[in-house]
Amino acid sequence: MTTATKFGTGVLERIGNTPLIRLERITAHLPRVQILGKAEWANPGGSVKDRAASAIVADAQARGLLGASSATHGQRLLDATSGNTGIAYAMLGAAMGFGVTLCMPSNVSPERKKILAAYGAEVISTDPADGSDGAIRKARELADDGGDQYYYADQYGNDANWRAHYKSTAPEIWRQTDGQITHFVAGLGTSGTFMGTTRRLKEYSPSIECISMQPDSAFHGLEGMKHMASAIVPAIYDPGLADRNMEMETEKAHAMARRLAREEGVLVGVSAAANVATALKLAEELAEAGTRRAQDAVIVTILCDSADKYLSERFWEE
Ligand code: PMP
Repeated sequence: MTTATKFGTGVLERIGNTPLIRLERITAHLPRVQILGKAEWANPGGSVKDRAASAIVADAQARGLLGASSATHGQRLLDATSGNTGIAYAMLGAAMGFGVTLCMPSNVSPERKKILAAYGAEVISTDPADGSDGAIRKARELADDGGDQYYYADQYGNDANWRAHYKSTAPEIWRQTDGQITHFVAGLGTSGTFMGTTRRLKEYSPSIECISMQPDSAFHGLEGMKHMASAIVPAIYDPGLADRNMEMETEKAHAMARRLAREEGVLVGVSAAANVATALKLAEELAEAGTRRAQDAVIVTILCDSADKYLSERFWEE
């Protein structure tokens, strides 16, 4: 029997290979420095977390821990997530046919909850006062009590998370800059994006400076970001890998989100804006340092998601 020719691509095949976008207006005062943003909203689930989630799912399925092949265990994927990883899992569960249960603080934006409901995922709300750590504790509790029905994906401790970026994000950046990248900036949530991308970039060229970004306090409004000094530190996080860590204030990230929308036509979420604000602060320092290498810097950062899920926040109106 012949099979019909298939047209188009599946949803999962569209993960990765995102465009690299030049941000020119915000660096107009620094004509020799380039800031480039990896447009991760172009992933089908709308964020950088499609990469980690799909790698985590592929790893679990390869090890027989998740999916329809087993009638007794791993019928549902379980994890704690502040939003984007959950959306990615929910999309994958719908596309691949497994259930998804997510623990998240009840104050995540209504847009996120609606997206998850649309994909058919189950959401277990935790006390917003406990932040993402409360969601992690709840997921661990369910994993311990839930018998075999769950595969606890544990994005904070799962090596498939950072390996996704080692295998895809970093090689894409290296290729898209013809190996000219000099600096890499990424904020820390689970730290998977920073860890995996940095590990691979350092193999391409140890002279690439890799800068991690964290919010400046535990009480920040940068969704998806962790203030490591006051949080449950992710098991996959190795602070020794960063050449430098920079802190970012929420208000400055909000201001950059507005600038990116109005001056660049790039409508991104707050963690993406925090990354760009950090990259710009770095670019200004380098220009001031005045050495040729510093002035000709090619700084790459991550535009983690689009603004769609944050449009109800007040800061856009300022
Ligand atoms: N930005 C957003 C909007 C996120 O949801 C996340 C994931 N928590 C991150 C950045 C951080 O990415 P990572 O988990 O790879 O550190």
